[in-house]
Amino acid sequence: MEQVQTRVKEVKSFVDGEYLESSTDAKFDVYNPATQEIIAHVQEAKEEEVDRACRAARKAFEEGPWRTMPLSERCQKLRRMAEIILERKEELARLEAMDVGKPYPVALEKEIPRAANNLKFFADFMEKQGAEVYPMDEDYLNYTRYEPVGVASLITPWNLPFMLTTWKLGPCLAAGNTAVIKPAEVTPLTVSLLGEIAKEAGIPDGVVNVVHGFGPGSAGEYMTTHPDVDLISFTGETATGKSIMKSGADSLKKVSFELGGKAANIIFEDANLDKAIPTSLQAAFMNSGQVCLAGSRILVQRSIFDEFVERFREAAASFKVGDPQDSGTNMGPLVSKEHYEKVTSYLKVAEEEGATLVHGGKRPELPEHLKNGYYLEPTIYIQEDPKARISQEEIFGPVVTLIPFETEEEALEIANDTDYGLNGVVWTDNLQRAHRVSHHVRAGTIWVNCWFVRDLRAPFGGFNQSGVGREGGHHSMEFFTEAKNICIALE
Ligand code: NAD
Repeated sequence: MEQVQTRVKEVKSFVDGEYLESSTDAKFDVYNPATQEIIAHVQEAKEEEVDRACRAARKAFEEGPWRTMPLSERCQKLRRMAEIILERKEELARLEAMDVGKPYPVALEKEIPRAANNLKFFADFMEKQGAEVYPMDEDYLNYTRYEPVGVASLITPWNLPFMLTTWKLGPCLAAGNTAVIKPAEVTPLTVSLLGEIAKEAGIPDGVVNVVHGFGPGSAGEYMTTHPDVDLISFTGETATGKSIMKSGADSLKKVSFELGGKAANIIFEDANLDKAIPTSLQAAFMNSGQVCLAGSRILVQRSIFDEFVERFREAAASFKVGDPQDSGTNMGPLVSKEHYEKVTSYLKVAEEEGATLVHGGKRPELPEHLKNGYYLEPTIYIQEDPKARISQEEIFGPVVTLIPFETEEEALEIANDTDYGLNGVVWTDNLQRAHRVSHHVRAGTIWVNCWFVRDLRAPFGGFNQSGVGREGGHHSMEFFTEAKNICIALE
């Protein structure tokens, strides 16, 4: 095992440029999901702290200089923030691996660099926006300004804490808004450092505030009702999105929601299985299956079903489950006791529904120091019934359902028989079929013969109950700005 920092951290909210002493002694603990050791004590933000954070963000927005400083200066500070993240990437990756239970190399090589790039990308993107004005006619000058909206509440989940928070913070700040951030209560460690990183990069006090607390009736809910907040960017569960929409309705806050998924990963008989199997394995079990984009329903054409099942089972058996801090680990534990109980409750559901267990379904054999961790083997079921609960509900763990189909029409029917619509995956060597199926799957992203390839300019978001709005490139910029058209008579 590699060396890990064992000191218990003291985590505080960051408001108006400094760490805040809470007005109450309310605290909660954060656990390492691989061992159940306490790794942090967090001062809980109550209504008073959230109010201070929102007021600080409002003041910083109204009084500047963030909103009014030259664009190049603002973007330079964001790029500096990205550099500091890269300078601290080992520390951040260790914290993320310890907090979420994800393999350290994944955090180090993928998520933390992507987080830095989220800031750099939107700084560069904003600077490259055209400043041209097209004349309407000889008598009038007509132009449009994209102005910051105001104070943004950024509320994020526990599965990719740092990456997802910076994905919102980049466009939010590049446009000139100010922010109050709340990471998920189970994984606050890396995000708790964003305030000090922003300060070190020269971003003025009050522009980036971070509060720690829970959702309903707590910090999260206050952030969605506070009168100083203008917009809410939320990533999390569909049910939470619905309640946030209600909370924000009274003051008509602008909302953007990235919610749950239950993606169909469709394998046609002409697919290249040498590529489809390892990628489908990643799509099912990366981050212990705790990925909104997980390919959690694998639809396989009947003619290759038996071959696929056997090869996929073999591949899953070689997936190394272990200590997230070890470089050879493919999969760590589930994030928390509560989530472990939710995910493992589906094992009983699967049994009651008559699904066939192909692999997993129990705790793996692990070394002594991981004996208390929330571990589950990569688990594979065959379930012929696409209406079964394990085929319909977002389990958000390492549990995948294999569903056979006969024809393309049947595959589409099963793929679209869901409340979700975040993404889909298609495996085929037939070009016409690849396009046809991509056009008919009702989801915001379709990957053909690949999975999880992201172009930050591309729209990202969900159909149906997988979200409201889109993130990425100009889609993010539209959400974080108000368009103002100005028409001037020249005579
Ligand atoms: P969650 O909805 O339980 O919590 C997300 C955040 O919302 C947390 O910070 C939580 O404290 C806060 N929250 C909860 N209730 C709230 C309320 N009433 N008001 C304000 N804030 C509230 O989600 P989770 O369990 O942390 O994350 C897992 C979910 O996130 C899965 O459904 C997954 O699919 C989804 N997700 C979606 C995407 C995407 O891009 N579409 C990405 C990652 C995760």
